[in-house]
This record gives sequence, structure tokens and C-alpha cells, in this order.
Amino acid sequence: MSNFITTKWDVIVAGGGPAGFFAAIRCAELNPKLRVLIIEKASQTLGKVLISGGGRCNVTHACFDPAQLITFYPRGGVELRGAFTRFQPADTVKWFESRGVRLKTEADHRMFPVTDSSETIADCLREAAKNAGVKVHVGTTLLKVEKNPKGGFKLEVRKARVEPGRNDAEVLPLQTKKIIIATGSDSKTREIVQSLGHSIEEPVPSLFTFNIKDKRIDGLAGVSVENVTLKMESITTNGPLLITHWGMSGPAVLRCSAWGARILFDKKYRSRLTVNWLGDYKLDPTLEILQRNKDWHENARKKVSTNPAFSQIPIRLWKQLTQFIGDKNWGDISKVEMRKLAEELTAGQYEITGKGQFKDEFVTCGGVKLNEVDFKTMQSRIVDDLFFAGEVLDIDGITGGFNFQSSWTTSWLAGNALAS
Ligand SMILES: Cc1cc2nc3c(=O)[nH]c(=O)nc-3n(C[C@H](O)[C@H](O)[C@H](O)COP(=O)(O)OP(=O)(O)OC[C@H]3O[C@@H](n4cnc5c(N)ncnc54)[C@H](O)[C@@H]3O)c2cc1C
Repeated sequence: MSNFITTKWDVIVAGGGPAGFFAAIRCAELNPKLRVLIIEKASQTLGKVLISGGGRCNVTHACFDPAQLITFYPRGGVELRGAFTRFQPADTVKWFESRGVRLKTEADHRMFPVTDSSETIADCLREAAKNAGVKVHVGTTLLKVEKNPKGGFKLEVRKARVEPGRNDAEVLPLQTKKIIIATGSDSKTREIVQSLGHSIEEPVPSLFTFNIKDKRIDGLAGVSVENVTLKMESITTNGPLLITHWGMSGPAVLRCSAWGARILFDKKYRSRLTVNWLGDYKLDPTLEILQRNKDWHENARKKVSTNPAFSQIPIRLWKQLTQFIGDKNWGDISKVEMRKLAEELTAGQYEITGKGQFKDEFVTCGGVKLNEVDFKTMQSRIVDDLFFAGEVLDIDGITGGFNFQSSWTTSWLAGNALAS
């Protein structure tokens, strides 16, 4: 313990998550002489990595053009543009492969370890940190950071005692020349960051599902539509949609929740959602197709409810969307009903009444304001030798591996600067 307290650390990394580990490894590998310490408040490191991507860890996304990559970030895209020219998904792939971890790309471009196990990623990071001489202390919570007038920082940490039979903690001082805050969305650390003069964009959840109680989707949990367009306030998104027990999920909804995170927070998660079940079909072409369906003589005596006009809509959903027409045949529906059906298909109105949790991935938007950080080094523009990386910053991506990628990129940049 005395070593831990008496060492004058060169770099202390607050937070043993992916950003903290990546920064520590990069820094220690570049400059092996540095004494680098990671402090982690939980009893184990890399907790989120282990549960990420449904236990498979969606490490990054196979998008290798920085200009395109930034379009997946509702917040932080502009600032990440230059950062991605320095470290992007192709570099992430190389980094892991050079350490024996092969990644594979799925049809939707998400990248996972070939083992389909997040343990592979956590083990790789722990091993790399150990080999680089990085020290790791778990059960150690950063409480306070003070800048020394002569340079460096004085820290206060709470360290859980590990002796058998003890369940308490002691507050200890630490000293370091540089510090990087990589504590994710932890609210207490945000207070520490504010005490150092930084401002915080208010944190709110991103990437969640929509609670919607509506008889048109009732009992359809598990039914999915390959390409829908959603509109919510000023936000438009598209992609696959999945009906759940509580409402709607799937990539189109998660994108909508990410881009609309602040709007929905302000509206207490109540808003009108317009669903175009036909993707990008407009009303008039839809009406024309419905009219042709009605005019087609073979259809005249067939029930609307069991003979969908659009193959992309699953039959169970079609039945519920056309319920207002009752038992009628195609030949018998009126112009008014046809128009209503076209509207239902291209601009169905639903009420969002709350949010649910998407278990595979969840992030918080908000955090350290980006104009207070130099994105070449991830150093604070307010306090010298203070750095940030990962989710503590006001950066978040949509689902698909973008959140880990921004952590890898920002921490790699910070690692370079910390080593110098
Ligand atoms: C269920 C779930 C699944 C996810 N799946 C994916 C996915 O597949 N792909 C993807 O791209 N993103 C995914 N994400 C998002 C991703 O996990 C985060 O973007 C990423 O973990 C952020 O990394 P970080 O190191 O900045 O923060 P974190 O991973 O949150 O790590 C911060 C660490 O700091 C520690 N800490 C906090 N406060 C203190 C303190 N005061 N002192 C010391 N230590 C402290 C925390 O305990 C934590 O270990 C998922 C998130 C969740 C919740």
C-alpha cells in the first residue's frame, strides 16, 4: 500500500473502462519509463466491455471513411472528424489483430471478435496493460483532484480494504504529474471535473426503445419490418423496426432515440411518432398501388386483411393495420378507406409514452463540453496536464460499435500526448 501512496505517478488514469485501459496502454507502450496507474472504483475492471453487445462486444463498425463515420454521431461528430483521420476503425482492427484478437464483420457492418465473446476483448486489454507495466488498483474511487501550483496534481481516493473480514474503506492521497479522466458517465466525477473549471453538458440517456401502447401493434412482439422511416419532431431516421411487448425497438428506433435524446428528455419521453411502414414510399404512389390492387380483377373477391398489397409488411401486422376496413374484399373498399389505408401505411401516427432499455447497448449523451478540449491531444484547454477520453465527454454514437470506437480514438490520442 505504501508504494501506491508514496509513488509519484507520472500518469494516473481515473477509470478502468475501455477508454482508461486504451489510453494507459498506449502511453506506457510509447514511453515504458513512465509510472502509469489505473484506478477503478468497481471491484473489477472493464465491466461494461464484459456486458457489451449482448456479451459479444461490438468493438467497432466497418466504416473506414472518417467523413462518413462522423455521421453516426449525434453529438461529437464535428470534433471527431480530425481525430478519426488519426485513429479510426481500421486502426482498431489492426490494434486488436496485432495482439492476436481477430475481428469479423457482420452483414450490418458491426464488428465483433471471432470468438463472439466480450471476454476476449477484456482479456486482451488486461494482458496488454500488464505487459506494458501499467499498474491497476480496483476498489479505488477518485474523490478529489487539485492542481498543484508547482505542477502536477494532488488526488484523494477512497480505497476499499481488502483484508478478510473487513468491509470498509480509507481515504488516501495520491500524487501525479498528469491525469486522465476516463470515468464514463459517472455523475460524481462530473462534479470533480466541474471543480477544475470545466463545464458539463447535462447528461441524458441515449439509445433506448419506445414505449407505445397501441392496438395496431398489440400482440405482435417479435414482428419486424426491414425498412421503415420514422419521424419524431425534427428527427427522421430509417432502418429495421422491431415490435416489442412494450412498443417499438430496432435500429430505426434506436437511431431516433439517439438523435432525439435531448428532445425526448425535455418532453419527458412523450411525443408523437410517425411511422412509414413502407420505408420511403410517398402517399400518392402508395395510393396508386392500392388502386391497382383493387382494380385487379382476381383480387376483387379477396379479403383485404389476408391479401397484403405490399410484401414487405408481415401478414400479422398488415391484418392489424387494415383492421378498420373490417372483413371487406379488395373490390369493395371505398376511396376514403383506401386513402386512410395509404396514410396508415406511409404516415401512421403513434404516441410514445415512455422509454425502455435496450439491453445490448446503452449510452449517456452529455458530459465535458467539447470546445474545452483539444481534440489533437485530448488535453483540457482549461487545465494543463488534465486529459479526457471516452464517454465522460459529450460524445455519443448510434448503436453499432460507434461508442467503443470514439473511446478507442479519444484514448489513443490522449495516450500519445500523455507519453510525451
Ligand atoms: C449494456 C451495454 C452494452 C454496450 N454495448 C456496446 C457495444 O456493443 N458497442 C459499443 O460501441 N458500445 C457499447 N456500449 C457503450 C460502451 O460500453 C461505452 O461507450 C464505453 O464503455 C465507454 O467507455 P469508457 O471507458 O469511457 O466508460 P466506462 O466503460 O463506463 O468506464 C468507466 C470506468 O470508470 C469507473 N469509474 C467511474 N467513476 C470512477 C471514479 N470516481 N473513480 C474510479 N473509477 C471510476 C467505472 O466504474 C468504469 O469502470 C454499451 C453500453 C452498455 C451499458
